[in-house]
Amino acid sequence: MTTFVQRLKGFLGQATAHPIGEACGCARPPFHHAQFERAELGEDPFHADVAVDRCKRCGQSWLHYALEDAEYSGSGRWWRAALSPEQRAALKAAEARGFIEAQYACFAGGSYFDSTGFEQRAPIRVA
Ligand SMILES: [Zn+2]
Repeated sequence: MTTFVQRLKGFLGQATAHPIGEACGCARPPFHHAQFERAELGEDPFHADVAVDRCKRCGQSWLHYALEDAEYSGSGRWWRAALSPEQRAALKAAEARGFIEAQYACFAGGSYFDSTGFEQRAPIRVA
């Protein structure tokens, strides 16, 4: 017999487009490069590094958007937002910043924030 909690966990496991409340380590800071297979999308017009990280454990794709001002130490900052397979397929580097800012929730971190990752809620501003 399936308990309510088991059904709820099954439901949450399918809700891959939302970063909050997931069990997998890819949805919990701190994040490690070894958790992911990275596909680089290149630079956007703001000279950000845009990539898609795919979790090796659960298969969830995450948009990774990283900015750094080379002349300023401690300026590295990044944002990370969950991508559905459809969003992953359609995403272009030039649209990445707008995609992050349109999210209800995402993760951010880096030396600029002095953080290995924390949750941000809308309105999200990338700068
Ligand atoms: Zn995962």
